[in-house]
Amino acid sequence: MRSPRRWRPETLAVTAGRDHSPGAPLNIPPTFASTYRDGGPVGYGRWGNPSWTAFEEALGVLEGGHAVAFASGQAAIAALIEPLRVGAMVTVPADAYLGTRGLLRDLENRGRVRLQPVEVTDTSAVLATLASTELLWLESPTNPMLGVIEFRPILAAASKAGVTTVVDNTFATPLLQQPLAWGADAVLHSATKYIGGHSDLLLGAVITADEDRRASLLTHRTLHGAIPGVMETYLALRGLRTLPLRFAQQQRTAQELAERLTGHPAVTSVRYPGLSSDPNHDRARAQMSGFGAIISFEVADAEIADRLTGALELIVGGTSLGGVETTIDRRRRWPGEEAVPAGLLRLSVGLEHPEDLWEDLQHALDTAARP
Ligand SMILES: *Cc1c(COP(=O)(O)O)cnc(C)c1O
Repeated sequence: MRSPRRWRPETLAVTAGRDHSPGAPLNIPPTFASTYRDGGPVGYGRWGNPSWTAFEEALGVLEGGHAVAFASGQAAIAALIEPLRVGAMVTVPADAYLGTRGLLRDLENRGRVRLQPVEVTDTSAVLATLASTELLWLESPTNPMLGVIEFRPILAAASKAGVTTVVDNTFATPLLQQPLAWGADAVLHSATKYIGGHSDLLLGAVITADEDRRASLLTHRTLHGAIPGVMETYLALRGLRTLPLRFAQQQRTAQELAERLTGHPAVTSVRYPGLSSDPNHDRARAQMSGFGAIISFEVADAEIADRLTGALELIVGGTSLGGVETTIDRRRRWPGEEAVPAGLLRLSVGLEHPEDLWEDLQHALDTAARP
């Protein structure tokens, strides 16, 4: 048998995280237990669970490291920030995920950390922060502006400077890029999104290739109690099995819709790294094996954007992303997103028929643009 690490991601997504012994059920059954009889390997439910281990094995092998699952993406973010010493400097993308910025801002206000926000698509601006920072937080493509970071030179320079690097890989998934291979210290996922994939759970994970870092993440999880649910990890692994298939179709539909959106008179701009006209296209092509399934497009103002959302019949207005259902969100409506253009809509492309999605979008765009 070939080493599992040599199998392709589609195969690993199906085979990893199983018990291969004779007579074992194909899937690790969920074990609902807070406590165990003495003499076994786990003991107490906050210390471990077979469903966590199965999920962690599968996600870890896809990212090329060892995964530690957390109660949510946000709990995983907190687990990476908490070990920083008091007063540590953190470089954070100016348009990082709202929850990342919110947590860091709260910690800054309480004197716990210091922050340097940076435009992360500007490589030299990022490099200029390395001399004075301890943690470099990266996210690419960014949410919701879909900026793409130039990973290789940034991660190489950070490693040389002794700066710890974290990559939020939620939008790309391990299928499009594996930042540990470029030298990132830790990769983060909100498994709530593409990995779970069905809008029915919250879950997070950190993946690292460093044994000491993994051990300290496990200690953090046990002591802070941000443990994943048994059912959540079971469902997320079930979701992960079909991630390659779902994501391939979602990307195909996203490419098609992005191209059609550029041709609609009510659309003033479209951001999607798969468009050859997109400023991030060449960078994305050079380092990713696909362009993802999020499109951010703009209409003239907030009023038209809200009319558009109200006129949709198939696409769901809602704030999350990465599910089988296509969802749309005007990001500027959220406090903390003041830098996002008022008429920008973030579209998370799901698995409905592309023509049905386009008919829905086209009808809503026509309706919204009518005076
Ligand atoms: C949703 C999200 C998170 C936070 O994850 P939760 O599971 O909601 O806690 C972090 N990063 C990105 C990019 C996200 O989209």
